[in-house]
Amino acid sequence: MATDEGRSALSIAQHRFEATAEALGLDESLRGILRAVKRELVVHFPVEMDDGGFRVFTGFRVQHSVARGPAKGGLRYHPAMTLDDARALAMHMTWKAAVVDLPFGGAKGGVICDPRALSASELERLTRRFTTEISIIVGPDRDIPAPDLGTNPQVMAWIMDTLSMHAGFSVPASVTGKPISIGGSEGRFTAPGRGLTIVTVEAMRDRGLDPMGATVAVQGFGKVGSVSADLLTRAGMKVVAVSDSAGGIYRGDGLDLAALRALKEEGGRLADYGAADQLSNDELLTLEVDVLVPAALEGQVTAANADGVRARVIAEGANAPLTLEADTMLEDRGVLILPDILVNAGGVVVSYFEWVQDLQAYFWATGEVNSRLKEVMVRSYQHVSARAAQRDVTLRSAAYEIAVEKVAEATRVRGIYP
Ligand code: NAD
Repeated sequence: MATDEGRSALSIAQHRFEATAEALGLDESLRGILRAVKRELVVHFPVEMDDGGFRVFTGFRVQHSVARGPAKGGLRYHPAMTLDDARALAMHMTWKAAVVDLPFGGAKGGVICDPRALSASELERLTRRFTTEISIIVGPDRDIPAPDLGTNPQVMAWIMDTLSMHAGFSVPASVTGKPISIGGSEGRFTAPGRGLTIVTVEAMRDRGLDPMGATVAVQGFGKVGSVSADLLTRAGMKVVAVSDSAGGIYRGDGLDLAALRALKEEGGRLADYGAADQLSNDELLTLEVDVLVPAALEGQVTAANADGVRARVIAEGANAPLTLEADTMLEDRGVLILPDILVNAGGVVVSYFEWVQDLQAYFWATGEVNSRLKEVMVRSYQHVSARAAQRDVTLRSAAYEIAVEKVAEATRVRGIYP
């Protein structure tokens, strides 16, 4: 979300790009192309509410680059969504797709709304009208949306159905993160958390840190956070704290994650769970744990609380959960930071698999999806890790260098039209 100057998602994205371009010695004309978003659409549209009145909502779709393939990125439904957030996150998606070597560019979008304050039918009408408004720039060859904060497989199903109604036939490859029954992929829902677990275990072993018994705190218990908590536990770690927007809970001998998921599915808040101590989101970030997984919003670890962070490893489940100052402070203290564009890329990797399966109308079993995901995540991590060692830079700088280099090369070799 947009916070203050120097900390907003957009200023972080721009700073990281400029620093990488400088490190790579990229020429100024290429920098100019890559720092600009290619296309942005802002739409204001009316939705009929259940009381019979109409409300006008604002939504965005931003495409940063299509140099390496169609644009790809999530749709966020959140009251604090801004156009700048969409720009930043679209650029972020370009680098993320490139670092794991997918033939995609980057996009992001969303609607300024609180989905929890809308009924299911209001959410459906909002989604269908928003989809219609952005249909002039999205599609399976152009820009393929996916879930993000506040959106889910049902929302993706309405998007797919709306685009299909316009086309006159089913277009499953127009959106990913769909339910399996309409062309979704096995393993898509768990993919961001699975990718995060694979990279975290790989990186810890590499640094001589034992994942077995390592303690973990997870901020955010949604699609990324809850699955990460579950799979890190299955990898031998102990999740001692989790939180949602209402606050968190702590239990030193490990939390019962199945009970917490059941509580959330019933619409409860983690703070209502009786068998653990309560703590605030800020307290969670500064717990004495081995691994911290911020998996909620941007800008959660800042210069104000970074000194208090005691984790040895931070796996960035969310996009840009650390401000620039916090990132530097933690790197200086030797904390191992697993950068978002690598560690949470599992979602876009399996979105790519979903798109490929839809285009071929040939679907893979769960085992095949998960083993291909593992192959991509391990290979990408090793690539980033080797680059970091070779250039004596952080994993984040190495990941950005690999990504920007690939997109710059595609842009250069395609040339400028006309
Ligand atoms: P989600 O809506 O499923 O879950 C978000 C969780 O964060 C919820 O539990 C919510 O209660 C919690 N939360 C919201 N505000 C909070 C706050 N102020 N403090 C603590 N918790 C808070 O969303 P998600 O898909 O899990 O996405 C989470 C993050 O991961 C976002 O930054 C998103 O961009 C990123 N991400 C998502 C995917 C994906 O495929 N879903 C992939 C990569 C990265």
